Amino acid sequence: MAPRKNYYELLDVSENATSDEIRKAFRRLAKKYHPDVNPGDKEAESRFKDINEAHEVLDDKKKRAEYDAVRKGAFAGGFGGGPFRGQSDFDPGAYSRGEHIDLGDIFGDLLGGGGFAHAAARGGDLTTDLSVDFLDMAKGSVQELRYRRPKACPTCRGTGRSGRQGCPKCGGAGMTEGDERIKVKIPAGARNGSTIRVPRKGAAGVGPGRSGDLLIRLRMIPHPYFRREGGDIHIDVPVTYSEAVKGAKISVPTIDGQVTVSVPAGSSSGRKLRLRGRGVPVPGTLSRGDQYVVVQVVVPKEQSGEFLSLVERLAEFEDPNLRGGWN
Ligand SMILES: [Zn+2]
Repeated sequence: MAPRKNYYELLDVSENATSDEIRKAFRRLAKKYHPDVNPGDKEAESRFKDINEAHEVLDDKKKRAEYDAVRKGAFAGGFGGGPFRGQSDFDPGAYSRGEHIDLGDIFGDLLGGGGFAHAAARGGDLTTDLSVDFLDMAKGSVQELRYRRPKACPTCRGTGRSGRQGCPKCGGAGMTEGDERIKVKIPAGARNGSTIRVPRKGAAGVGPGRSGDLLIRLRMIPHPYFRREGGDIHIDVPVTYSEAVKGAKISVPTIDGQVTVSVPAGSSSGRKLRLRGRGVPVPGTLSRGDQYVVVQVVVPKEQSGEFLSLVERLAEFEDPNLRGGWN
């Protein structure tokens, strides 16, 4: 069983790439293919999804190790011989759906209880990842999640027996996996890596035992312009040299839409302008963080002759001791 996609190729990195290299490659490609930058471009949209999927796996040590193992075929028959043979092997397709069930949790709970005695037992908790767009996490949203959920086998009704023999459908385990869909409410201001617990949506219990819980770990899909720092949002805003010198009113995106910001005269790169209350809601409070607009003076790469002669003239007005303190 080989994964369908080559995540390393998708991110254009080597198989030995460090997490830093992976992150950089991802940022570069995500900016290039982000739907906001390529409105209506289906191919860019599909590339963007692939890049996110690749990043989600390769940026997570555990998932990357599992993915590498699948690529090398180490998982062939990895769960073989157990009662779950043929139905619960590692599923790389789960990644393409933006989710991953931690099989260790499922089997740990079931097997740890002394095998399949079919006495009443609480079902195990399931852990799954859900990738959510930056704005859907900042503003709150409802997301649909699909995952595989162990349930009582419909053929033997969880007994594991078919007459005198083991149930052919579930191999005697009494459990099978089925697709489950649920809607999940993401609270506004949810943080990357935080977990939402949905009671009784985990593995079904054995006999009259209650189901375990579903733990959904939120993975924020980075935004091409906005960065989250706790409840605050940062955005780099390019300004021209003359705007930085003279000051300017510029239009800046916020999660509520465009707002006009006054860049004061004499603003150097790195200057932070605060937009109070334009960050994300701070969970458990009524307040919102702030948005910081970070000024970035951009100098043209290509200069015409006239531009250069103006700059030469300008240089006569510049402070010759700008770095004087170093000497
Ligand atoms: Zn069965």
